Amino acid sequence: MPLYHPSVYDFASPVPSYWEDTAPPFEGDVPLKDGESCDVAIIGGGYTGLSAAYHLTRDADMDVRVLEAGEIAWGASGRNGGFCGLHPSSMGYADHIRTYGLEEAKRYITSQVEAIELVRDLITQNGIEADLQGDGMFEVAHNARRFKDLKEEAELLSGTFDVPTRLLSAETFAEEGYNSTEQFGALWIGAGFGLHPLKFARGLGRLASEAGAHLHAHTRVIDWTKAGSTHVLSTARGTLRAKKIIVATNGFTQEALHPAFAGRLLPIMSNIFTTRPLSEAELSAHQWQTECPCSNTRNLLFYYRVLPDRRILFGARGDLTGHPDASQKMFRWLEKRFGEVFPEWQGIEITHFWRGLVCMASNATPALGALEDDPSVFYGMAYHGDGVAAAPWAGRELAALVMGTKSQKDLPRAVQGPPPHIPFPGLRRWYLRAALAYYRLKDL
Ligand SMILES: Cc1cc2nc3c(=O)[nH]c(=O)nc-3n(C[C@H](O)[C@H](O)[C@H](O)COP(=O)(O)OP(=O)(O)OC[C@H]3O[C@@H](n4cnc5c(N)ncnc54)[C@H](O)[C@@H]3O)c2cc1C
Repeated sequence: MPLYHPSVYDFASPVPSYWEDTAPPFEGDVPLKDGESCDVAIIGGGYTGLSAAYHLTRDADMDVRVLEAGEIAWGASGRNGGFCGLHPSSMGYADHIRTYGLEEAKRYITSQVEAIELVRDLITQNGIEADLQGDGMFEVAHNARRFKDLKEEAELLSGTFDVPTRLLSAETFAEEGYNSTEQFGALWIGAGFGLHPLKFARGLGRLASEAGAHLHAHTRVIDWTKAGSTHVLSTARGTLRAKKIIVATNGFTQEALHPAFAGRLLPIMSNIFTTRPLSEAELSAHQWQTECPCSNTRNLLFYYRVLPDRRILFGARGDLTGHPDASQKMFRWLEKRFGEVFPEWQGIEITHFWRGLVCMASNATPALGALEDDPSVFYGMAYHGDGVAAAPWAGRELAALVMGTKSQKDLPRAVQGPPPHIPFPGLRRWYLRAALAYYRLKDL
């Protein structure tokens, strides 16, 4: 049984969003013909699957198919906030060092800086128009105590991991970033930028298709069996036989499809709205002048940025049902919080609201590799709501694993292997409920 309300998995139509309204259509998909065979079948046509398909077809002579239940990039890749930044983990940098040791932590952070540059290169070297914005990211202290935490983070990031940072007092950030009731100084992290997520995803789809991958949209895998060493994937459009499989379904993973992925993932809803374009005078009301994406230091963080046409995008996680009624409740909650963080913008018209599932795991890190008991099955998932950079990187690494040019040991240890089993997975939404309540309390 799916974890969330069935409407969350309505693959038939795209989720209406600001991105859907402003991205050119994707025209590179082709219908699957019943009974076809291929070298590699990729389940899921988001950043992970498309990047794996692109790198595989670019670097190896292989027949590669992407099977996507909805339109290409129907899932999180087509509807995220467009923050292309560091650290797809809910483990802090210091905890990372404690858990994996200093050298491994450095390897991991270096790989994620590389992930950001991979996205930039894919876009700039291949003529993808993805509206890049800003030179870094801001983390904004939502109270005075958290500014001290930002100082520690800056020391670790710059001192240990060589990532450029700059600590800005509340006064300086008001001059360079913005001002608000929840602004107690900020940390600038010199890695990352903002982008149009759907334009990037469709651009990546174009690259994969031009390199020779076959992208099959509206082709949901409904059954997966094996005949000898061949995988047989059944879809409503027919079957596809494959020598190797990459599972790239992240937060929308259908757990009944393969027992190896059941009871291991913690998908959670993230919600976004965009306002109408703001005038210069309206933006000045909060002294807004940064193009860099911003998030604050709440445990249940708010993330926000100005878009090229001067709208504000504002998002937060929450709602553990996915029910359409809960969606309305979530919208009102988000609107209220927006008004509290940016009182001068309270009541400004909101033009779009949408949501989708981000994917967490109990060990707080992404998961990449091949199944131990079937090394012809590869997977990349659990980017903890930070997959804009991490997922294309994971796709590229998965392509290398499939081609045999890298082995799992070449990956940072933090991302090696599947997410751990969750005890009593039927209780997952209750665990998440408890976690949300705890973090809300902490944020108070
Ligand atoms: C609202 C929201 C905001 C976010 N904001 C940010 C952000 O600002 N920055 C950031 O770094 N990350 C953000 N994320 C997370 C980021 O979008 C994801 O980590 C990333 O897109 C994951 O890419 P993916 O390809 O692994 O998964 P997805 O893009 O989710 O793709 C998985 C695909 O698998 C398909 N699928 C599932 N089951 C089947 C099946 N049986 N057969 C065929 N296809 C199937 C789905 O239709 C889906 O398209 C956000 C996510 C959401 C939902």
